[in-house]
Amino acid sequence: MTNDATAPEQTDGFHLVIDALKLNGIDTIFGLPGIPITDLTRMAQAEGMRVISFRHEQHAGNAAAAAGYLTGKPGICLTVSAPGFLNGLTALANATTNCFPMILISGSSEREIVDLQQGDYEEMDQLAIAKPLCKAAYRVLHAADIGVGIARAIRAALSGRPGGVYLDLPAKLFAQTMDAAAGRASLIKVVDPAPRQIPAPDAVQRALALLKGAKRPLIVLGKGASYARADADIRALVERTGIPYLPMSMAKGLLPDNHEQSASAARSYVLAEADVVMLVGARLNWLLSHGKGKTWGAPAAKQFIQIDIAPTEIDSNVAIAAPLIGDIGSCVSALVAAIDSSHGSNWAPPPPDWLGAIAERKDKNLSKMAATLALNPTPMNFHSALAVIRDAVKARPDAIVVNEGANTLDFARSIVDMYEPRKRLDVGTWGIMGIGMGYSIAAAVITGKPVIAIEGDSAFGFSGMEVETICRYNLPVCVIVFNNNGVYRGTDVNGSGSADVAPTVFVKGARYDKLMEAFGGVGVHATTPAELGKALHEAVASGRPTLINAVIDETAGTESGRITSLNPQSAAKKK
Ligand code: ADP
Repeated sequence: MTNDATAPEQTDGFHLVIDALKLNGIDTIFGLPGIPITDLTRMAQAEGMRVISFRHEQHAGNAAAAAGYLTGKPGICLTVSAPGFLNGLTALANATTNCFPMILISGSSEREIVDLQQGDYEEMDQLAIAKPLCKAAYRVLHAADIGVGIARAIRAALSGRPGGVYLDLPAKLFAQTMDAAAGRASLIKVVDPAPRQIPAPDAVQRALALLKGAKRPLIVLGKGASYARADADIRALVERTGIPYLPMSMAKGLLPDNHEQSASAARSYVLAEADVVMLVGARLNWLLSHGKGKTWGAPAAKQFIQIDIAPTEIDSNVAIAAPLIGDIGSCVSALVAAIDSSHGSNWAPPPPDWLGAIAERKDKNLSKMAATLALNPTPMNFHSALAVIRDAVKARPDAIVVNEGANTLDFARSIVDMYEPRKRLDVGTWGIMGIGMGYSIAAAVITGKPVIAIEGDSAFGFSGMEVETICRYNLPVCVIVFNNNGVYRGTDVNGSGSADVAPTVFVKGARYDKLMEAFGGVGVHATTPAELGKALHEAVASGRPTLINAVIDETAGTESGRITSLNPQSAAKKK
């Protein structure tokens, strides 16, 4: 970096950040350039990193979170100061809530001015704002500390329960120079960033005793189980014990959805009737009705085993009889080993009446669903459109499905079967809208596989401008917009008599396909399942950016999909 042959070689903050990330095997940055990080994006690209540049930081952040989930390494989101940082913050908080490892790196204004609140360009105390919304937050003031800062961020994101980390890099830091050899020596290659956590043997025995005594056992697999990459161990546990299992939405495909032990099609029955429930990387939050109430049947008849890496998760909603704390791979393999050593081939599968009752309900519900899917109404409804997508995913089980919306989410989750682990990305723990294009871009960039984004028309709107990003990087993403002219439905009317339309409706007959065409991608207007199926097939085969505007009956949706009960009016009525 110097022309003076006698002076020692110099490096600077920019290069130290890049070198520290590369040293730790991080090769992709999702971000949006601007002051003070524009040069960082250029230099990172020059140094061989992939830099994916977005139209809005929230989607870059969501992409980083999805990359973290898909790779098990923290995804990196890079933003400018104050407004860019704030735009990225929603994604950081969402990643933390979902237990996805990511690092939000934001440039920031000068400390001296920010701290005296003297009105700097984009002045904001970003570190203080980020802190309560993520797992850890750090600021680096000296180039010589960049290695430590990045090492701490990686470790915080990956170890224990994964989550989001904020790293604050003030503008001045980037231009600081130091001796290159000292700079290299200051970098840290993080050793064992997500250490295995072996469960205590007595905890394993306690869990096993409970499982063994169960008459109606059930395993619930959550996205923590998918994230843990313990696929073979989990499959061994399920198949060795013969216990029916229920995948939470992002755990679909951990075992193929057509596995005979899947109890998905008898979900309400097994949750209400099971006597021992083993949670594997799944929290008893609102998605599981907090482990109580009507969903779970008689409380006295139910005992829980919970496998989780976070000890404080235990007893968060109901008493957990057998906590098993550790990483899922270690816990599940310890359970299988304990079964093998104490039971050999004598492990008794669950009682046949339990399995029979589940099979009966499954058959009934599956044939009911098959009959609904076989209908071909005009206009298309959610079911007839999803039947086609279900077949396309079956034909390409390696494709990644991204899914958001209300009805579009609910129906797709139950209709579109998944066959491989970590192929389904959706609204997650918050049920958040706006993850669609960010997750899709990350999935395509990270895996190179076809991505099928099943989007409600409202949900798509949150990140729709990123179709330009999809086209710019020529990513194999096929977006299917379920266009029913509104949020939930397109039929609401303004009852007030004023000229405005109702708050939940959109422009009727909108052509989302034109948006993709505007940037050189393929746009298709599909009004029948046959048109939708053909366009999807071509998109997956060609890998070209495609948006299918799937026209859905505007009367077909339900308010808030399956969570109508969470609307204050419905909740009040229930009281
Ligand atoms: P879902 O929404 O699918 O039910 P959650 O996000 O509620 O799943 O639960 C995921 C759980 O998995 C969290 O409690 C988290 O602590 C846990 N977890 C994440 N990674 C691991 C891991 N490697 N080992 C053990 N538990 C994990």
